[in-house]
Amino acid sequence: MDKNTEMPQNAQQVREVLASRLHMQSEKQLRRTLTAQTSVQDRNYNFSSNDYLGLSQHPEVIAAFQKGISDWGTGAGASPLVTGYTTAHQTLAEELAEWFGVERVLLFNSGFSANQGVLQVLCKLGLTPIIDKLCHASIYDGVNYPSSQRLARFQHNNYADLAAKQSKLPANTCPLIVSEGVFSMDGDSADVSALVAAKNTGMLMLDDAHGIGVTGARGRGVFDHPQAPEIDIVTGTFGKAFGVAGAFVATDHQIADSLVQSARHLIYSTAFAPAQADAIRAALNTIKRDQSLQSALTERIQLFKRNAAALKLRLGASDTAIQPLLVGSNTLALRLSQALADSGFQCIAIRPPTVPKGTARIRFTLSLNQSLSAINQLFATIADILDNDQELTDACRIR
Ligand SMILES: *Cc1c(COP(=O)(O)O)cnc(C)c1O
Repeated sequence: MDKNTEMPQNAQQVREVLASRLHMQSEKQLRRTLTAQTSVQDRNYNFSSNDYLGLSQHPEVIAAFQKGISDWGTGAGASPLVTGYTTAHQTLAEELAEWFGVERVLLFNSGFSANQGVLQVLCKLGLTPIIDKLCHASIYDGVNYPSSQRLARFQHNNYADLAAKQSKLPANTCPLIVSEGVFSMDGDSADVSALVAAKNTGMLMLDDAHGIGVTGARGRGVFDHPQAPEIDIVTGTFGKAFGVAGAFVATDHQIADSLVQSARHLIYSTAFAPAQADAIRAALNTIKRDQSLQSALTERIQLFKRNAAALKLRLGASDTAIQPLLVGSNTLALRLSQALADSGFQCIAIRPPTVPKGTARIRFTLSLNQSLSAINQLFATIADILDNDQELTDACRIR
């Protein structure tokens, strides 16, 4: 059954469609699988986690979570507008707003729901989103891609293309430019000044899931940019550098109040646990207090890049903790990932549709959970693997 021409009309046809898709995904080396980590797995050799600062293992964050559970119990028990919003959430939101230098912060259960929730509200209001092509799936879902009639996409970080797409929008529409502080699969960054200049009389939203806590002079991600006050909305997650889970939307009073009226992911979903808010606050305080976290991460990024350059590996143009090795074919990316796994390194292959076709990659991430010597060991292992595999060498090396 061709999915474009015929829709399944009964359960048996649904099963046939599912079976044929799963078969095809296996054939193309695109089948995804869930693999469970064990609690004793060595994080030193995990090169795929977004726990950049190692805060998921930090004694103060753990202690705050534990104390929070003693104080509050395990769950919030209701959505934020009912009785799920506690002083733990409120204090966290206020401390974040002050640190970011914004009027208001709202808390969401995940970065995915924050992006989708905010964008649904703005699109319903009639704004026309113009998104960077490499934006995250949650942004695509928020703007209802590909069903939305009113939507433009510009080439990744290409502001001439952004201007060209903008000029083609109907005159009676307010553009909403959407991009990311640090791109999740490439590790490169948007140019905040260029985006602020481009927004003109429209609005600008940035997702800084991978920048908050890590990039910028004070670890405030895009908020460390001098033009941050010009960004209308910033979203970010507590699941990455903060080492916990949950997310924020940072904006002004009017937009925040409007989201409280209509963001469905906020209104109709149980608030995250108050103890979790306490843990996130502990992570925030650690990030604010200890600037050495960022310099230790930078040391790892630089060591990684030096090693990769010595092996002439085809890395993406990234200065962040996300360092993609562009392999190209799905099969070869999986082969390298498996060979590294056989030597004890977790380095996950990222394939389409998460990344564009023909750009399968190993997305390495650096973290304070890794020792410097683990990074050196990783490259000794990569060198060994490539020495014994000409096809992989051709795929991974710059000629
Ligand atoms: C991880 C990620 C999200 C989702 O955040 P979660 O809190 O994990 O749901 C959103 N945007 C980007 C760019 C991300 O990388």
